[in-house]
Amino acid sequence: MPSLTGKTALITGASQGIGRAIALQLAAEGAQIALAARNESKLVEVKAEIEAAGGTAATFALDVASEDSIKSTAKAVLAHFGKLDILVNNAGITKDGLVLRMKLADFEDVIRTNLTGAFLLTQAVLQSMLKARSGRIINITSVSGEMGSAGQANYAASKAGMIGLTKALAREFASRNITVNAIAPGFIETPMTHILTDNRKATVLSEIPLARYGQDSDIAHAVAFLASDGAGYITGHTLDVNGGLHMA
Ligand code: NAP
Repeated sequence: MPSLTGKTALITGASQGIGRAIALQLAAEGAQIALAARNESKLVEVKAEIEAAGGTAATFALDVASEDSIKSTAKAVLAHFGKLDILVNNAGITKDGLVLRMKLADFEDVIRTNLTGAFLLTQAVLQSMLKARSGRIINITSVSGEMGSAGQANYAASKAGMIGLTKALAREFASRNITVNAIAPGFIETPMTHILTDNRKATVLSEIPLARYGQDSDIAHAVAFLASDGAGYITGHTLDVNGGLHMA
């Protein structure tokens, strides 16, 4: 039997890129998937892909920058599936710029979406996991949050914050058998990185010991592992999936 049979997973930012790959992977491993993001038509396409492969999914419009949207989506997901076993806080944005020119709004938007959104959604679904005395929370952070990244003060701060959030939650909920971990991707080929210049991409590639960019499936496999029963003794950890770009 696939390892996640009978589990329900909510994945934010499931409309494309890494979130879509995580959704397909967890569905292939038997989980029922709540697909959440702002772009509903793309979510419907991902749902169709999951169903074509024999899986189960439902779509939920969600803006993680809005507390109201988070609360209503969390309610709708729990009403639809009756429970939530796995939460993947994956939705994220960049608004890059050098610090001297970075607008406060661009700093705050990135923190709000990447960090505050993960905090609020976790808070909104925790009751269900606490009741079940079991749960898996997986936060998608970034190598930028570990190493820093010039031109990404807002993004690096949000992702470093997610690592701290992960550790605090792990300590707070370990007694209820809820594990909380982070995954720190390196450079993954998705719409988020397609916009980078060829020069920047070549520089990054030259720094990756495994000498290739990551694929969204590399992250999806790591999420499936952390969501599995076999990862039950791992909590508060940040798993690097970066081809060796950064070795903590
Ligand atoms: P992407 O292709 O740009 O996808 C981002 C996803 O986040 C989309 O599904 C988008 O959906 C969703 N999203 C953005 N703002 C949202 C909001 N306010 N509410 C709900 N959903 C929102 O990026 P990706 O590369 O797959 O990145 C996924 C995660 O991995 C991010 O957290 C990113 O920081 C992290 N990461 C990526 C890389 C990389 O190299 N690609 C490296 C390290 C970490 P909608 O637009 O439909 O809302």
